[in-house]
Amino acid sequence: MADRSDAPCIVWFRDDLRLSDHTALHAAARTGRPVICLYVFDETLRQPGARAIGGAARWWLAQSLRALNKGLATLGVPLLLRKGSAATIIPKLAGESGAGAVFWNTIAQAPHLATERDLTAALCDLGNEAQAFAGDLLATPENVRTKEGRGLRVFTPFWRRVQAMGAPPSPLPAPTHLRAGPSLTGETLESLRLEPTRPDWAGGLRDTWTPGESAAQMRLKDFLGHRLSGYTGDRDRPDRDGTSGLSPHLRFGEVSPCQIWHATHFAAAEHPAQASDADKFLSELGWREFCRHLLFDVPDLDTRNLQPSFDAFPWRHDEVALAAWQRGQTGYPIVDAGMRQLWHTGVMHNRVRMVVASFLVKHLLIDWRAGEKWFWDTLVDADAGSNPANWQWVAGSGADAAPYFRVFNPMLQGEKFDPDGSYVRRWVPELAGLPKKLIHQPWEAAPLELAGAGVTLGKTYPHPIVDHRKGRERALKAYEKVRAR
Ligand code: FAD
Repeated sequence: MADRSDAPCIVWFRDDLRLSDHTALHAAARTGRPVICLYVFDETLRQPGARAIGGAARWWLAQSLRALNKGLATLGVPLLLRKGSAATIIPKLAGESGAGAVFWNTIAQAPHLATERDLTAALCDLGNEAQAFAGDLLATPENVRTKEGRGLRVFTPFWRRVQAMGAPPSPLPAPTHLRAGPSLTGETLESLRLEPTRPDWAGGLRDTWTPGESAAQMRLKDFLGHRLSGYTGDRDRPDRDGTSGLSPHLRFGEVSPCQIWHATHFAAAEHPAQASDADKFLSELGWREFCRHLLFDVPDLDTRNLQPSFDAFPWRHDEVALAAWQRGQTGYPIVDAGMRQLWHTGVMHNRVRMVVASFLVKHLLIDWRAGEKWFWDTLVDADAGSNPANWQWVAGSGADAAPYFRVFNPMLQGEKFDPDGSYVRRWVPELAGLPKKLIHQPWEAAPLELAGAGVTLGKTYPHPIVDHRKGRERALKAYEKVRAR
């Protein structure tokens, strides 16, 4: 038998497109063996919960792979791209390259875990070593359970438990050198067809974002240095740059939650006055964690109501209203601003996500799954846990859900969180000439005021597609029925 002590080690990159704090890469580098860095674009997963990534996230993935390839090139190792089922492709590659081991960071989601099991079995049959390392969570779902062995369904006790586990492992540095494996041919990035071409709708994403590990680290540093102070209040203001903007970087693992956790604690230790802002920020990271743990227990979170009483909810099928919502043409300025921000930039401010989601589900009585699907396709941070969990939270069908009688009033939300109307002015420019007292309810303006601002309702900007009071009452009636059940 050939001596395999110098056989290459394959590092399988997944939702962890970075070099620092990459446990699998770090372990491979420490073996001293040649390393093959691999990304498999796998659209063959068929289990519940396996979803093809949406359009905006595909764009991000392409940029992130490009950035990772650049980072690896500085270490003299290329990023090998392959397409197909990872459980088949990787054992084949091991045979082709003479690799003796495969290392990866685990993803605690049912379809990915199934692939990892199939892969491990196939590699063991070939006599190859297979090693999975800790994934992109602060705590593994198996370690946060009730006495009966179930996952926790209420955020506060969940987060308390995670915090009580103490500091997550200190982040690992990026390897300073790697030995390159044999030269191999793979797919080109273009052949994966991740980026839109005809039409190329990604201009707004390009203008807004720089994907990749370096940009993620810079964003984290900038946030902690300049915006952590005041985060607790500013995070609710869509008219301010008050949040970290890290969600798409986290989604693709360009920065790890452990790196964020440690950097935030470090910032709070240096500036004790920021301790409560740091706690608030970390608790938001806790919500990401909570959503992922929920997904671990409920792989079909994007299709199944967590509360079965919602299975008979009287949703309306209204394609016209759904299209108006998607295009930001509902006649409610804060809703339309959010939906247009989403279309243009691939993200939407969290407060506005709650408002537009509540509007779709409650004012329009359209099934939360239709909204979740639209977000899934248009968000660059579309996350298999956070997206459906938050939609179910707003709809009331989820874990630790918002009370059913909470129907966000879009005018009051606008006045409270965008008091000068600058967020609406930016994304709904046809209303920019209205004074702040009218910008969140243009239908209240007198004809002269509308004319002065160049607004003609029904022509330059739509009338509200549903009357707020009637929509609210209709929603409450529908929710009462579910409650009675
Ligand atoms: P920050 O305020 O800087 O928060 C830091 C990090 O905490 C975020 O990057 C994110 O990872 C996490 N976080 C913050 N709020 C939440 C939350 N409510 N739930 C889970 N994690 C949170 N977030 C996603 O990452 N992907 C999604 O697909 C997604 N879909 C959503 C759908 C709806 C209907 C709603 C109401 C919220 C959704 N969120 C989603 C949560 C939240 O809106 C975004 O995480 C946040 O706006 C990202 O901006 P930020 O990175 O500046 O957040």
